[in-house]
Amino acid sequence: METAKYQKMFYKQMQEKFQQWENQQFITEQELYVFLHSLKGTAGSIGLNELSTISTQKITPLQENEQKQWEKSKWKSYLAPLIEGSDFYIRNADISNEPLIEAHLIENELEQDFILVIDDDIVFITFIKELLEKEGFSVIIANNGKRGLEFIYELKPAIVFIDVLLPDINGFTILEDIIKKIKKEHIVVTMISADNSKQNVIRAYNSGATDFITKPIDKDVLISYVTNRINNKNDIEQSIIIDELTQMFNRKYMNARLHQLIQQYSRKNESFAVAIVDLDYFKKINDTYGHLVGDDVLQGFASLIKKIKRDQDIACRYGGEEFVILLPNSTERHAYIFLERVRENLVSKYFSANDINFQVTFSAGVVGANRNNLHSEKLLEEADQALYTAKQYGRNKTIIYKSDLKEVTQRSKIKIIIVDDVFIVREMIIKHFSLWKPIDKYDIELLEFSDGQSFLKSNWYNPETKYIILLDVMMPHLNGFDVLTILRNKYSSDQVFISMLTSRKSEKHVIQALEYGADDYIAKPFDIQDLSDRLIRIIKRVFI
Ligand code: GH3
Ligand code: MG
Ligand code: MG
Repeated sequence: METAKYQKMFYKQMQEKFQQWENQQFITEQELYVFLHSLKGTAGSIGLNELSTISTQKITPLQENEQKQWEKSKWKSYLAPLIEGSDFYIRNADISNEPLIEAHLIENELEQDFILVIDDDIVFITFIKELLEKEGFSVIIANNGKRGLEFIYELKPAIVFIDVLLPDINGFTILEDIIKKIKKEHIVVTMISADNSKQNVIRAYNSGATDFITKPIDKDVLISYVTNRINNKNDIEQSIIIDELTQMFNRKYMNARLHQLIQQYSRKNESFAVAIVDLDYFKKINDTYGHLVGDDVLQGFASLIKKIKRDQDIACRYGGEEFVILLPNSTERHAYIFLERVRENLVSKYFSANDINFQVTFSAGVVGANRNNLHSEKLLEEADQALYTAKQYGRNKTIIYKSDLKEVTQRSKIKIIIVDDVFIVREMIIKHFSLWKPIDKYDIELLEFSDGQSFLKSNWYNPETKYIILLDVMMPHLNGFDVLTILRNKYSSDQVFISMLTSRKSEKHVIQALEYGADDYIAKPFDIQDLSDRLIRIIKRVFI
């Protein structure tokens, strides 16, 4: 690791130079030449080949003895990739020298509390996002009502902030649209407005808002408000065991009962089976008929299961359109037969939206408890593995877990693509994540491009793979927005998730990014550690 030490010294020196120049009104071309010349010489010999290439490019048009003055703004933009690169290096050198090998995520960590902000006031958006993320909350931004609604259904945020005034829709209209859903999921909804007139406040409360907050908001007050509401919501959830929408047991209750079954097995050898059920192409139902119809389907399906199951079977809503059924005194064969009975009944069940009738199917995975899988995580993982196989083999079927399923199934791929012209940003990210393996079922691969054109021209897309694209805004030739627009026209967010790398100072870019359909943004300069937390959240919330 000797080279790492030299590299760090090298970047430090670069930064010192920039600092020194910062305090001068201008520098001469000769100074610039000398600086680039020494970069070029040293960089290659300490393993920074790309840096040496850039220095060579930058030095070529310059004259060695030229006394011409370069003003601050001019040299800064000329050396922008070097300045950004050295900043990024210094910021991240200590943690990124060791590649990251992440242990598996524990389920609890996944149950992240999201905070959704539906607002188009960029000052407020950046304020709230940065503030709350620093406190460890995950903030998602929707700059119009339509996106906000989508996020509410897909991510089940803990708190939704809704601005009264939005570009495409009145905040109250959103509130009235979603209030039923929000109540069922115990989501806190907070109206925000600069106008705290009596009518506004009354209308918010009458429509079912939990709180009304007036802009501007004090930082400390906001943090304590959010903490308070999230704690409150968690307390409520702790005290209930029934899922409102389906009237099935919830995940928390399922976990407790599964634990019990495991104990009974080890003490008295009482067998049991676990089934995971997931509706097929449910997203399409939502997209075609709307979310309310989607909710009806969930309810209808849940009541069918409840009708067919034995009294002792424990039926739970595991997540959105996923269910877990625990079957005491049963083998996996019994569970299989039960699910096929559900399937036969479902064949004659029609759902309707307006005047159209339609049907749904489900896929399922089952596993029987045995001496080798007596852990809740292991059992669920095995059932999930079988479910995954059922999906891969065409859906609408039940698969029984066998230990060799793992080899049969193809693992899902997630590719993270970094498109940034600053080589050191790419290099450090790639190195840091080279052995990263946060999630068992997924293979994660990283790819890098130094500009938009070469990225778009490459044969990067494969429909079997999911992508997270980290897209720099400021790039020569084709900038990040051009690339974003092209991508967004072709690929949807659940296939290709696009996060823009914007400069912290540039609010304009953040607005533009969201308008052009970016899914998220990361403000530069950022820490690699923050990036990895964020990537895990994105993977969990978008792809799983
Ligand atoms: P697959 O066959 O692979 O399971 O496809 P799918 O579309 O069912 O899979 P996916 O898990 O990607 O989509 C699930 C969707 O369910 C995403 C989300 O919008 C929707 N959803 C989650 N919770 C609810 C809910 O409470 N109500 C409604 N209406 N939709 C929900
Ligand atoms: Mg599904
Ligand atoms: Mg699903």
